[in-house]
Amino acid sequence: AKTEAKTEAKTEANADKTEEDDKDDKAAQSLLNKLIRSNLVNTTNQVEVLQRDPSSPLYSVKSFEELRLKPQLLQGVYAMGFNRPSKIQETALPMMLAEPPQNLIAQSQSGTGKTAAFVLAMLSHVDPENKWPQCLCVSPTYELALQTGKVIEQMGKHYPEVQLVYAIRGNKLERGTKLQEQIVIGTPGTVLDWCQKLKFIDPKKIKVFVLDEADVMIATQGHQDQSIRIQRMLPKTCQMLLFSATFEETVWNFAKRIVPDPNIIKLKREEETLDTIKQYYVICNSKEEKFQALCNIYGAITIAQAMIFCHTRKTAGWLAGELSREGHQVALLSGEMQVEQRAAVIERFRDGKEKVLVTTNVCARGIDVEQVSVVINFDLPVDKDGNPDNETYLHRIGRTGRFGKRGLAINMVDSKFSMNILNRIQDHFNKKIEKLDTDDLDEIE
Ligand code: ADP
Repeated sequence: AKTEAKTEAKTEANADKTEEDDKDDKAAQSLLNKLIRSNLVNTTNQVEVLQRDPSSPLYSVKSFEELRLKPQLLQGVYAMGFNRPSKIQETALPMMLAEPPQNLIAQSQSGTGKTAAFVLAMLSHVDPENKWPQCLCVSPTYELALQTGKVIEQMGKHYPEVQLVYAIRGNKLERGTKLQEQIVIGTPGTVLDWCQKLKFIDPKKIKVFVLDEADVMIATQGHQDQSIRIQRMLPKTCQMLLFSATFEETVWNFAKRIVPDPNIIKLKREEETLDTIKQYYVICNSKEEKFQALCNIYGAITIAQAMIFCHTRKTAGWLAGELSREGHQVALLSGEMQVEQRAAVIERFRDGKEKVLVTTNVCARGIDVEQVSVVINFDLPVDKDGNPDNETYLHRIGRTGRFGKRGLAINMVDSKFSMNILNRIQDHFNKKIEKLDTDDLDEIE
């Protein structure tokens, strides 16, 4: 009985695990983004460019033809359905393809075309006649490496002489192997082993080094050191490229150690705004009352699709169950699911197969489901110290100015504590959050 109680307590604790734990899981978030993204993120912002040599002219291209790519590669690009370079590619591609090669640090949010850009650069710099590794690309995880590998394979579809190999744990090669593939993609630990200990790769022959997802990479201390050690084995003439979705101080410091004399390209993400959102709050006393309020709201207004956010997996699971019992088609997204499973849930929701998505924090970012007209904070977003998480609040309900359809956000308040959080969020954004009486809902229609 004792063990049973223990197991139960453990499951309980696990179910109650806040999504704080998942926030650390940047690699999973990034993978999720890749899995659900099928096209470019639109942006109206301009790229900021900092050139190593400010006196040299800055080229940017509006078409792939201008890049004078090998015909096989241009074919590959078009086969992927790309008509013209994305905003970041307009500037990044000419720099990366310049002779002599230029180093680059580029930052832009996920989905803006970074991967496609460096894959094209790697494929362009390879000499297929030479049967040894010439491009080295490191990614933070096996799964992310695999995703990049897929892009290399797609883009290189018409260029079969170029071969690719994965330097990942589990890919065990015989001692004394000398790789013949021109492109190696892998995780830092294995790449380092293959260069140093096992000598499958001669690092002195590498012409292009890519470090992808630098912000995810530095979350693991070991990866940082390994990446720097790999970089030190490369020749001075090797082109160094580094990419990151975000650019805080720590990423920047790391980037400067990896990329000497860099050109720098930054593309700001589209600002989110609460201007086109009507915000309300509802006062309740328990989660059951919150659920009842939710039912009243559903009874009163037509909701095309809604996302409901909960603090814990346990609440999310419970709420999804209650809503199903009420006859709603509910999708549930939570942290213990595999990334692929989460991607599948989001796809289904995006396709309108389910009308309600109940979720914990994990998917607050990065997913953008245009038809969602209502966002419900079943629990208000708080950080691990119990302070309002304004940033998450904005991400959940904010819209980018350009695509801003009108939206509705409803916040559930169930204690003095959450009322205080709500007031602080209201003050922070300086936008009124109106009180809503769920027994009399005429006003929100
Ligand atoms: P990032 O690496 O910044 O996350 P990706 O290179 O993965 O961005 O591109 C995001 C999505 O946009 C992918 O589905 C990719 O195939 C597509 N894409 C990339 N470049 C272009 C382009 N020039 N035109 C159209 N689609 C593109």
